Amino acid sequence: MGTDCLFCRIVAGEIPATIVRETATTLAFRDIGPKAPVHVLVIPKEHYADVATLAQGDPTLAGELLATAAVVAEEEGLTADGFRLMFNTGEHGGQEVFHVHAHLLGGAPLGPMIC
Ligand code: IMP
Repeated sequence: MGTDCLFCRIVAGEIPATIVRETATTLAFRDIGPKAPVHVLVIPKEHYADVATLAQGDPTLAGELLATAAVVAEEEGLTADGFRLMFNTGEHGGQEVFHVHAHLLGGAPLGPMIC
């Protein structure tokens, strides 16, 4: 996708981010406007607009994204009390950045819907 995509620019190192985990195919970094004590975004390095496009286009990569999220949840100490993993998708889903990202939220009891 390249220069028009904010998260592609984070992957490229052109925009700073607080990276908490990186694999060959995925990147996890802290959300710039956290909605919970822990709020990490997990993305594929390759550009897909949303989770539906990713899941249909590259199910293996979708699984790798989920695996990275699970490892980060463990590393952030979220597994004992639980956490939320969610994808806003499309306009009605409230998606603002059209490079697929999982929101990993936790560290406190969460309300019904917060992202
Ligand atoms: P969406 O509404 O699901 O698309 O969520 C986009 C998320 O990206 C929001 O939670 C923003 O706070 C977050 N965000 C936007 N720009 C940046 C950034 O430069 N670094 C980290 N997070 C960002």
